[in-house]
Amino acid sequence: MQIHDVLIVGAGLAGMRAAVAVPAHLNVGIVSKVHPVRSHSVAAEGGINAAIREDDSWESHMYDTVKGSDWLGDQDAIEILCKSAPEDIMTLERMGALFSRDAEGRIAQRNFGGLGYPRTCYVADRTGHALVHLLYEQLLKRGAHIYEEWYVTSLIVEEGVCCGVVVLNLFTGELSTLRAKSVILATGGYGRVYLISTNGLINTGDGMAMAYQAGVPLQDLEFVQFHPTTLKSTGILITEGARGEGGYLFNARGERFMEKYAPNAMELASRDVVSRAEYQEIMAGRGVNGCVMLDLRHLGKAKIMERLPQIWELSITYAGVDPVEAPIPITPGVHYSMGGIPTNTQCETPMPGLYAAGECACASVHGANRLGGNALMETIVYGRRAGEFASQYAEQHEIKPISETHLQKEKEKISSIMSRKDGERVGVLRETIGTIMAEHFGISRTRERMEAGLEKLKAVRARIPNLYLQDRGNIFNLELIDALQLHSIMDLAEVLSAGATIREESRGAHSRPDFPKRDDENWMKHTLAFRTEEGPKLEYKPVTITKIPPAERKY
Ligand SMILES: Cc1cc2nc3c(=O)[nH]c(=O)nc-3n(C[C@H](O)[C@H](O)[C@H](O)COP(=O)(O)OP(=O)(O)OC[C@H]3O[C@@H](n4cnc5c(N)ncnc54)[C@H](O)[C@@H]3O)c2cc1C
Repeated sequence: MQIHDVLIVGAGLAGMRAAVAVPAHLNVGIVSKVHPVRSHSVAAEGGINAAIREDDSWESHMYDTVKGSDWLGDQDAIEILCKSAPEDIMTLERMGALFSRDAEGRIAQRNFGGLGYPRTCYVADRTGHALVHLLYEQLLKRGAHIYEEWYVTSLIVEEGVCCGVVVLNLFTGELSTLRAKSVILATGGYGRVYLISTNGLINTGDGMAMAYQAGVPLQDLEFVQFHPTTLKSTGILITEGARGEGGYLFNARGERFMEKYAPNAMELASRDVVSRAEYQEIMAGRGVNGCVMLDLRHLGKAKIMERLPQIWELSITYAGVDPVEAPIPITPGVHYSMGGIPTNTQCETPMPGLYAAGECACASVHGANRLGGNALMETIVYGRRAGEFASQYAEQHEIKPISETHLQKEKEKISSIMSRKDGERVGVLRETIGTIMAEHFGISRTRERMEAGLEKLKAVRARIPNLYLQDRGNIFNLELIDALQLHSIMDLAEVLSAGATIREESRGAHSRPDFPKRDDENWMKHTLAFRTEEGPKLEYKPVTITKIPPAERKY
């Protein structure tokens, strides 16, 4: 058993940024189920938003973000994000981030969807890669205890206070406890509740499921972002930077169809708007084999190779298309979790001692739709703040004694899965849930379709207790990890589907043909789902509006 002042679960950008913010006199531990640089943050492509130019302003960034959120974002949290972003970018630069440069040698910025100013800083189309390696260096320099390839199975809660976690060491298969004065969840998103997603296979929303199991509600899970440009059949992301650099979208008739849907912003409207437009074109029979086309040819080879080298490579490798010579077939695909563990602006969750930051948290800076480039900024601004505030909490509190039962309970759970001789295979159930979610809770959601989805999910839930594993070993039992992740996916699928079915309006990414309008009177509120034996119980809480009153959203 190990004891830390601050314990962080997750070593993506949010978790590592939090660790680096913990003052040197405190002892920090950081746990990750994969090596830190394999966290999904490493896959981020297009960039990170900050108003760093004299003719730009945090107020304008805030306006764009609130509008992008379809007025579901909390404006106090958005204000902090946009105000802090320029200084946080400079801190990354001082740490050694190699941002791409413009002709005058300043940090270059590109256009991104829903922005009124080209304010997305980038490192070619490998921004996440550059930042993850930068923060990993900082983490090593900081001297944190890194539990690499350890899987957290549950939170330890004593008298309503979070005071540690139960972990499985993948190398040995041993379960143990890690205790801490404060715990930060930075476990990333739940994109893999869906079968096909731009997310890594590890993005199963474990942290959210753990919090939910421990009695913390989950907020706004029905808001799932579909990215407008994912590569045909694979779900691989083609960065919004491709449109930011001037790429066009065409339908089968060769029309730049965004003219109809967003005459001013065109391809650079917010993601929900562009994805819906593509979906409508494809449904109306104007797609090309279930896709629309992203055309970069007019940018020329030199620009493509300088700004979008990875896109060039991905497109050739996975679609057999050289974007210098031919348009890329793309479809909208599951990309980002707007919902998560509710936090205030100090990253506190409703449970004392428990903090959350990054994609697993819901502050809520993205509301009903996130703007591209804002997620990376959130991991940096709110990751840092989580480290700072969890440290303050650790300084003011003692380590709590914990009961033996936490470890015992997890041991029993795992041995019951390991000892079953036959039953259901994990992969089959995961595929079943992922397919139900894609078919019934996709871009366009009608009551009928969602209710049928709820029934199917109920049937899968009943099969979960029959899970069995073929691998009974202790060392690197990834089938066991898959089984534990399946429990996360199941819980989150239930919360997401319950919230979506009940929300009778269209706002941001949640789009209902049977309720096509945003309904501020009845639905300008956050969903909170509490766990009960009968399934999620929903409550609601108000949105924080400080500066920008609700208005109609047009691009
Ligand atoms: C392909 C792609 C491209 C993107 N491009 C951009 C972009 O250009 N700009 C932008 O703003 N956003 C982008 N995003 C979104 C953004 O990258 C993510 O929201 C952000 O990086 C999430 O960071 P995080 O630190 O919250 O989580 P992650 O980076 O997902 O890290 C989660 C961590 O939690 C750990 N973990 C999870 N569960 C457990 C467990 N049970 N036990 C132990 N450890 C656990 C994992 O090991 C990992 O270390 C992109 C996303 C994708 C998928």
